[in-house]
Amino acid sequence: METITAIVLAAGSGKRMNSPVQKQYMDLAGQPVICYALRAFEESVVTGIVLVTGRGETEYCRHEIVERYGFRKVTAITEGGKERYDSVYAGLLAASGSDYVLIHDGARPFVTPDMILRCVETVRVCGACVAGMPVKDTIRYVGEDGYAGETPDRKKLWQMQTPQTFSYSLIRDAYEKVTAHNTDGITDDAMVLERAEGPAVKIIEGSYHNIKITTPGDLLVAKTYLQMRDQT
Ligand code: C5P
Repeated sequence: METITAIVLAAGSGKRMNSPVQKQYMDLAGQPVICYALRAFEESVVTGIVLVTGRGETEYCRHEIVERYGFRKVTAITEGGKERYDSVYAGLLAASGSDYVLIHDGARPFVTPDMILRCVETVRVCGACVAGMPVKDTIRYVGEDGYAGETPDRKKLWQMQTPQTFSYSLIRDAYEKVTAHNTDGITDDAMVLERAEGPAVKIIEGSYHNIKITTPGDLLVAKTYLQMRDQT
């Protein structure tokens, strides 16, 4: 049987939220934000979930999240690191033996079992796939002097989301090759694979609702999305 593991990231301090509670544990309509992504993976084709927490938070997550909300697919709870890529690598070590891994920001509550299925179907063919959406705004480079530089063609620009899904050996090898010496500006996993000169990454449609909760305003938007979901 194929082993398909979700690595759900819940480490990091969330400085942009201006709150003593990290964004992934904040209340969203009666449940911690992290529960929404965990439930989507629980109800999906994945065979196991690795939850990556902040330092000293594994026991809290085991009791207050995994046991309290009854997530049965969680196979490991492991501590993350200083940067997102450190946390991903900790998750990769805990997911050893998997055929495929879906790396997901725990601060994105609106991933769905259908999106997860499309990621898995694509990764079986391509080896690497990332959810994203076309950008709606015009994007410009801005110089250090504060003046506008070039404007890339908007038709070719997509914003990257998670899940980012890979053949296990491909992404683990890439992390081991790249993060030892070249971590400058790494913000997602596809970048790690590219720097390792791995295969091309297929982009599939995520959703405009698949937001990452980063600021207090995002939490209000998320509440509205939940109300919309409940009304349909
Ligand atoms: O900080 P950022 O918005 O990029 O975080 C994206 C996701 O990565 C969040 O779910 C956060 O919990 C996770 N993260 C992590 N370890 C870090 C930094 C961020 O697991 N050191």
